[in-house]
Amino acid sequence: MKILVSACLLGENCKYNGGNNKNEKVISLAEKHKLIPVCPECFAGLPIPRVPSEIKDGKVFSKDGKDLTDKFKDGAEKALYVAEESGCQIAVLKERSPSCGFGAIYDGSFTGKTVFGNGIAAQLLYDNGIVILGESKADKIEEYI
Ligand code: SF4
Repeated sequence: MKILVSACLLGENCKYNGGNNKNEKVISLAEKHKLIPVCPECFAGLPIPRVPSEIKDGKVFSKDGKDLTDKFKDGAEKALYVAEESGCQIAVLKERSPSCGFGAIYDGSFTGKTVFGNGIAAQLLYDNGIVILGESKADKIEEYI
């Protein structure tokens, strides 16, 4: 099965601070599945490193106050394009991210608090029928296939 994956979970240094969120459980999925990495924020043309962003009232703002909603939407569309072109029906995405988070995201205060909600790319993928799991459920993926 082909699985769309947040690239930072595979060790790609595409996180806002230039680092990654390497996750061995996610990487081990490659033993049985074909992993298709995406980074919606990179697809949006945002630099690495970059100022962190969070969602507030449905819009995305960088910590220095710029409204990046349209850029995040553009990156989400490109991630959806990759998912559809490569035939992914399931995605393992980075939890809490304003792009990739699903079910809980940072609350827009840049204090580490979370609220119920979905990242911009996760929402678009979900709206287009893709099953989404956070990395903490990567070892349960067989239950969702
Ligand atoms: Fe990782 Fe997604 Fe953020 Fe890219 S946009 S660094 S894939 S959480």
